Amino acid sequence: MTEELCPCGSGKPLQQCCQLYLSGQTYPNNAETLMRSRYSAYVTGNLPYLRKSWHPETCPELDGDELQTQWSRLEVVRSKRGLKKSVVEFKAWYLEDGAERVLHEISLFKLHKKRWVYVGPLAGWP
Ligand SMILES: [Zn+2]
Repeated sequence: MTEELCPCGSGKPLQQCCQLYLSGQTYPNNAETLMRSRYSAYVTGNLPYLRKSWHPETCPELDGDELQTQWSRLEVVRSKRGLKKSVVEFKAWYLEDGAERVLHEISLFKLHKKRWVYVGPLAGWP
């Protein structure tokens, strides 16, 4: 039996990577790991996890349309760790009408109730 690799691109088996977070077994202790796990949540269709890892003030109404995108891979470009705020720049590739496109985002994460959560995109690298 071959082990399924984690969609986040870590090279580790899913069960030993983002599945630990997606299943609620544990919670990411830094923004980059959280970002990777959120990507895996999009890939595996885990809406409750997306809600849980989104800042309550910026979390939109999630109705499942978010999960329609066919993601193909993730690349974390760089990340900047802070005590209460962190920034992660990433590229996430997806397929649209048979063509590969990329979502390039610089995301802001904050520590909220002792957990890292996604706040939203920034206009540029801080
Ligand atoms: Zn992973």
